[in-house]
Amino acid sequence: MRLALKPALSRSWRDSDTLQFGTVQRYAGVVERADKTLCDFLGLLDGTRERPELLAAGERVGLGRDPADALLDELEQAGLLDDADAVGAALGRYPQPHRDLLGPDLASLSLVHSSPGAAPAVLARRADLRVEVRGAGRVGAALAAVLAAGGAGAVTVVDNGRVGPGDCSPAGLPPGDVGRLRATAAREAVQRASARRPAPSGGRVGKGPPDLVVLAPRDGSGAFAGGTYAARELLRAGVPHLYVGVVEEIGVVGPLVVPGVSACGHCLVLTREDEDAAWPRLLAQLADDGPGRARTPACDTALATAVAGLAALHVQLYLDGLRPPSVDGWSEISAGDGMSRRLRLKGHPDCGCLWQPLPPPN
Ligand SMILES: [Zn+2]
Repeated sequence: MRLALKPALSRSWRDSDTLQFGTVQRYAGVVERADKTLCDFLGLLDGTRERPELLAAGERVGLGRDPADALLDELEQAGLLDDADAVGAALGRYPQPHRDLLGPDLASLSLVHSSPGAAPAVLARRADLRVEVRGAGRVGAALAAVLAAGGAGAVTVVDNGRVGPGDCSPAGLPPGDVGRLRATAAREAVQRASARRPAPSGGRVGKGPPDLVVLAPRDGSGAFAGGTYAARELLRAGVPHLYVGVVEEIGVVGPLVVPGVSACGHCLVLTREDEDAAWPRLLAQLADDGPGRARTPACDTALATAVAGLAALHVQLYLDGLRPPSVDGWSEISAGDGMSRRLRLKGHPDCGCLWQPLPPPN
């Protein structure tokens, strides 16, 4: 393991001999008694040396072997060190020029996953992930592109029909795509975002179900609706899935359903029904506006972009092994006041999705 000070962290002097790594004080690491000798030693942490070489160098610059050893431990515990070999190996999973684009993403991961080599391991795992996005509207196409940019190895977008003006957004499908097949346009958006050359097949298609499915219906009221037939299929197959959409002036991210572990879309329907007995009746009519009524579903571009970004973050957090707030809950962003809030969702006792299976008979 070749040790390097994390390039994500800024370096500034708190006073004449106290060095602070990082800008946000809550997370910053501080090195005290940072004299010239110590700074010379820190300069050697550039990812070209293994620990034994560093200890020998510590002796050479006049710091001493044991103090150098203790300092390395301290820096590691403060989350300031990364493993340059692992960084190289993780980025090596991606073709150029995507590799260069991922530098800042990996720098960010290095702050979230702090021990040396942890962040590169997370990025390397992302290279093998498959995510399916259903719906290539203003939210879905942007979300797919963001996930691809963030390093998800294969992002497929499922949709049919042709791109309409309401599907376009600066983060997803450009206005020049109006009239093209939505699935093709979305595939190209994903390829652009990950700087890949267009491939007619749509990239790598792995075996088995994807690691996660995002349900991003173009008319966001579908995402608000919860337990659809497609969602039940995913639940049965044990595939984690996330509801995302813009409903009128509200952006919704969640719930992220981990089958058998967290509350599902049907739990949400039942919870809404407890609060509003007419909800199932309204739900049944969502798709049908009746004859002669042209409807333009509301979808603010800024809101849709925020929702796509937030949803991509939640997907990444979950697939990186953390628990985003859309598990057993959902996040809402309002176009009315720009506020975001998180709401809790409990498994509904009548749903059954969290019932434990009976033990097998002896
Ligand atoms: Zn449920």
